[in-house]
Amino acid sequence: MKTDIKALTFEQLNNAVKEMSLPSFRAKQIYKWLHQTPCSSFDEMTNLSKDLRGKLSEGFFISSCCIEDKYVSKIDGTVKYLFRLYDGEYIESVVMKYKYGYTICVSSQVGCKMGCTFCASTLAGFKRNLTAGEIESQIQWAQKDLDIRISHIVMMGIGEPLDNFDNVISFLSNVNNENGLNISMRNITISTCGIVDRIYDLMDMDLQLTLTISLHAPNDEIRSRTMPVNKKYPMDTLLKACKEYGERTSRRVSFEYTLIKGVNDSMENAQELADRLKGSLCHINLIPVNDVEERGNVRSSKDTVLKFLNVLKSNSINATIRRTLGADINASCGQLRHLKKRGDADENSSKNR
Ligand code: SAH
Repeated sequence: MKTDIKALTFEQLNNAVKEMSLPSFRAKQIYKWLHQTPCSSFDEMTNLSKDLRGKLSEGFFISSCCIEDKYVSKIDGTVKYLFRLYDGEYIESVVMKYKYGYTICVSSQVGCKMGCTFCASTLAGFKRNLTAGEIESQIQWAQKDLDIRISHIVMMGIGEPLDNFDNVISFLSNVNNENGLNISMRNITISTCGIVDRIYDLMDMDLQLTLTISLHAPNDEIRSRTMPVNKKYPMDTLLKACKEYGERTSRRVSFEYTLIKGVNDSMENAQELADRLKGSLCHINLIPVNDVEERGNVRSSKDTVLKFLNVLKSNSINATIRRTLGADINASCGQLRHLKKRGDADENSSKNR
């Protein structure tokens, strides 16, 4: 089994270079080829001897992904990619333009195990974790394709980042490295459905990134019904961890709250949410749910969203309504992979007939 060399942190690559009895400056050279150029084969590393390139390819491979489909929003220029991985699996990424620069939303797993009832990411099943190199490749190929520099990363694509903890941490270390993409930790957001043990692990690392919690409910009854993870880590446990996270890292924790008609969008729900979060240093993003055909959830009306927001504000809770980007290109993650899979299945079944 070869190792994904792009998944190694700079320190790990340094050790590998030492083990091969190579001078240490080689580590920096190879690292830059992998993370800054980026190369997809050792043969492109022209300042390494043929011999060394051969040696590297005996023990390592370079993970990558290729663009299978690309959709550009006519409304706001948001770009959505469907990437194909070496084993034929698909993942999605979205590039959005903001006043301060470009943000990419990346996937961390092929599929998801978490089973949230409104989300498309679990529909086509969980397949595997992405390597750190595969997570980074999404940024590299999007940058190259659009000829831009991406300055912000949100881990809100397919998958649960904290369920792929070690690879996500290596990915963060690489994108943050000055010989790599050199993206500041402050410009990186990790979104989680609330795997509390891993939130504590993350806290211990004291990284300056933003942690966002997919809360989506004001109480355990609704949350357990829509988000199975809540049965293992109920809201009190989760909110306690968030409070500690804020205190230990001095970073404000954000909450995502997707509004689903008749499920979590009543004014009582808003008041209950406000009561729970009162006094904590946080920010709530309200998001009208995106329709996912199989899920049958209905978006709350604009009027309801505004009233919900006002209840939070009148309780002195910091809250905003998330601006929708890429509304015409299925920009919420998981939908393309699912449709692609379904299309493949239909094609296969017609061939079999
Ligand atoms: N697993 C991580 C990150 C992936 S999802 C997490 O749960 O946070 C990114 C965000 O999109 C999450 O807040 C998720 O709950 C939300 N989301 C999923 N399906 C959605 C839908 N149909 N409409 C709106 N938001 C959705």
